[in-house]
Parts: sequence; structure tokens; C-alpha cells
Amino acid sequence: MTEQTTTTPPEAKGEQHEFSAEVGRLLDLVVHALYSEREIFLRELVANAADATDKRRFEALTDGARALPEDAKIRINPDKEARLLTISDDGAGMSKEDLARNLGTIARSGTRAFGEELANARPEDKPSLIGQFGVGFYAAFMVADRVDVISRRAGSDEAWCWSSTGKGNYTISPATRDKAGTDIILHIKEDANDFLDSWQLETIVRKWADHISWPITIVKDDG
Ligand code: ADP
Ligand code: MG
Repeated sequence: MTEQTTTTPPEAKGEQHEFSAEVGRLLDLVVHALYSEREIFLRELVANAADATDKRRFEALTDGARALPEDAKIRINPDKEARLLTISDDGAGMSKEDLARNLGTIARSGTRAFGEELANARPEDKPSLIGQFGVGFYAAFMVADRVDVISRRAGSDEAWCWSSTGKGNYTISPATRDKAGTDIILHIKEDANDFLDSWQLETIVRKWADHISWPITIVKDDG
């Protein structure tokens, strides 16, 4: 008997999960209606990174194991060659359960209500609605055909990778990360090259960075 080698495509690795029906609908709307407002994905991801850093600072008050590093910051790192844009933070991170709940369902009623409003809006009104209110994390799928989230919860030594193409399901698999926090890794779409350019990223961030209370570093990619 010959030994058979089987290879598993990346999408089939790890545990498979289905998005909730609400997430599926919201993702569809976001990906299809919003070309002109695409840059708001960065506002949403940086806001989440800042929220997570605030959360860790708060948790550290009662749990020394979650102390924030002194140089806590938000890092935006484009890699033109690999076509990846990574937004990293030193925040509270997410456990495996957090990843499934926070990124696989619509946990907040505000987002749910907004999703309904968006679904019922006239097509020409959708971009400005999204621009005004944001759709949170799912905005990443406007510019990325795959998103990987690598996260390690502060106070834990386990890391997990959530991965999805935004089409119906996502996977969660074990990962490694040398410290607590989160990396949001965007596999940038063919038509979204602007978002791999550090100068363009800087211009976008400048528009609203004054609302963010943590340092933001944009890594220069001259490649
Ligand atoms: P919102 O920020 O309004 O709650 P989002 O869709 O932007 O909605 O994010 C959903 C949830 O995912 C957040 O509430 C948070 O719990 C979690 N999350 C997203 N990004 C991060 C991050 N960088 N670090 C930790 N948790 C995050
Ligand atoms: Mg958010």
C-alpha cells in the first residue's frame, strides 16, 4: 500500500464556522455598495485598535498580568510585495471565544439597526450612510479579499487566528504571537493598491487621527 499525501487548502484548515445570517447580509451590502467610501475601513480598524488599548489599560488597573507596555501604540504596516496591510495593536486582544462572538455575530444592537437602515436605503444614499456611521470591522472586506485576525488575549499565552474571505464562513485555528494584542492582516484586493502606499495611508489617517489617543505609526514601505 502506498502512503497518500493530502494537502489542505488554507481555508479548510482550522475549525470552520458559519457567519450569522445578519453578518452575511451586512457583508454583502458593505462589499457591493461602497466603492467611493472605501477608505473608511482604516478609520474603523484604527478605532477598534484604540478601543482595545483603552480596554487593556482599564483591565490592568485590577490585573497586573494585563499591564500595558509603556510604548503601547497602533502600527499600520503596508507590504506592497506581499499585498498585505497589517494593523497591529497592544490592546486587550481576543480569546478564541471572543473572536467567534465579536467577529462572527453582530453583538451590538447599534450595528444591527444600522444594517437594517442600510438595507432599506436607496442605493445612491448607501455610501454616505456608511461613511457617516461606519460598519465597523466588516469594512475591511471593502478593500481585502481575505482578512486574517491574529490575537492573543492579555493575561493569556494562547493566540488564535480568525480567517475569512467574507463569504459565508470563517475559520479559527491556533496561532502564535509573542505578546498580547491583535494583528488585523488584510489581503488587499487587486483594485485597492492605494491602501498599500504609506503616503496615501498617512493622508487618510490624518483626516481623523486627532480623535485617537494612542500613538499611530505608519511603517514606510518603499518596495
Ligand atoms: P464596535 O467597535 O462598534 O463594537 P466592530 O465591528 O468595529 O464594532 O468590532 C466588533 C468587536 O470586535 C468589537 O466590539 C471588539 O470586541 C472586537 N474587536 C475588533 N477589533 C479588535 C481589536 N483590534 N482588538 C480587540 N478586539 C477587537
Ligand atoms: Mg469598531
